[in-house]
Amino acid sequence: MTVTVQPKASHFINGAYVEDTAGTEIPVIYAATGQQIASVHAATPEIVDMALASAKAGQKSWAAMTGTERGRVLRRAADIMRDRNHDLSVLETYDTGKPMSETLYVDATSGADALEYFGGLAGSLTGEHIPMGQDWVYTVREPLGLCVGIGAWNYPTQIACWKAAPALACGNAMVFKPSETTPLCALKVAEILFEAGLPAGVFNVVQGMGEVGGALVTDPRVDKVSLTGSAPTGKKVYAAAAAGMKHVTMELGGKSPLIIFDDADLENAVGGAILANFYSSGQICSNGTRVFVQKGIKEAFLTRLTERLETAVIGDPMDEATTFGPMVSENQRDIALGYIAKGEAEGARLVYGGKQLDRDGWYIQPTVFADVNDGMVIAREEIFGPVMAVLDFDDEDEVIARANDTEFGLAAGVFTRDLSRGHRVIAAMEAGSCFINSYNDAPVEAPFGGVKASGVGRENSKEAIKHYSQVKSVYVRMGDVEAPF
Ligand code: NAD
Repeated sequence: MTVTVQPKASHFINGAYVEDTAGTEIPVIYAATGQQIASVHAATPEIVDMALASAKAGQKSWAAMTGTERGRVLRRAADIMRDRNHDLSVLETYDTGKPMSETLYVDATSGADALEYFGGLAGSLTGEHIPMGQDWVYTVREPLGLCVGIGAWNYPTQIACWKAAPALACGNAMVFKPSETTPLCALKVAEILFEAGLPAGVFNVVQGMGEVGGALVTDPRVDKVSLTGSAPTGKKVYAAAAAGMKHVTMELGGKSPLIIFDDADLENAVGGAILANFYSSGQICSNGTRVFVQKGIKEAFLTRLTERLETAVIGDPMDEATTFGPMVSENQRDIALGYIAKGEAEGARLVYGGKQLDRDGWYIQPTVFADVNDGMVIAREEIFGPVMAVLDFDDEDEVIARANDTEFGLAAGVFTRDLSRGHRVIAAMEAGSCFINSYNDAPVEAPFGGVKASGVGRENSKEAIKHYSQVKSVYVRMGDVEAPF
């Protein structure tokens, strides 16, 4: 089966593709070539209204179904996704430029995991019974209503599923706006959900830039906003949602620490640092981009890291042998190159990479700076590209203080053979998603999300249910009412 990249239309509303060419045209550029491969149109106010109205209308009947029935639809969608993993992976690669060696194993598969997991939970979402003598209180776990999901461009299939699956399991409807950089994959998620039996209107996709997101967030029909994006966008969206007293989940950026003690298994620590910086060409929110290496292991770490980076296969993302692809866009590549120039200007030591590749597409080399200090821009700001900053440290208390000295708090990792120390250090980390002798695992069973400027709320796991439902409490009196007069 050939994969058609140009979607049938820009938006998916009320169970069907919808077009309105009056909206601004958004070209879809393949990151590996720089060539346009498709285009969509940003949603006009009429399209936004149509999507919200269809979600509002679809939500009530979806919520009226039993949890088991809703779960069956989600689990069927998970099966379809797995069956089509290859084509969905090709589309994900076209959308993002990430290599097939990643997309075949991570994107549609993790989307399917979310649909399966929350499909399984849907039938068990209940309230509780609270005895009060002869009276009692019962609670009802209710959906929030109409949820808006807004996505970043690095994991377009996964982000759509991580938001849709718990929202729909709880009986909500959703309008999802993918990033304008990667508009294709969410449409396939919508198609698959409807093929699996989702009623029309319950999951809708509209395209557009920040202003379309803004129109969704401020609409009075919307009860909840879940954003995956940068911290500056998060602050704007959170404020706009607060004005309407809407629920929020904010999955934002980070500048996470990865701490490597000199007793760590060197190969595992190097492998962890590679996963924490160069998977998806470094475009992962939870990346451990501040790699604190204890002085005793520093030179061995840098030597082995450099040797292993030499084995990266940089090239055509459609070739399954490729292990390192291009950046998502020219803009994102230029942002990363700008930070590399800043690192050199600030006096950090360029140990590896740092160059743009002389070929079509938005390729830069995996890049490592050593001798980075805490005040340098490359140690403070999120780069969202393949740029690792290696910082030295002497002892545990010092590294804990320095690791936490950031506005962000998405993730943190530690490599050590001393497990007591591993737990002690992680206990002190101001971060939501932590790793001991590992990095960047994100199974659907575990909560995922940040603290401080990295966000509020959690995706995945049973925690996500709390962010897509609310509890009604009902006091039931069996006897007479006693009133003072
Ligand atoms: P971005 O903040 O530029 O955009 C994110 C989304 O918000 C896009 O869909 C965009 O159109 C929309 N948007 C922009 N302005 C808006 C507004 N005023 N109102 C409503 N919507 C608006 O982020 P990006 O460049 O697409 O993605 C990269 C960022 O996302 C990085 O900071 C990264 O760390 C973060 N991210 C976080 C997670 C996580 O789970 N914590 C996952 C992936 C990416």
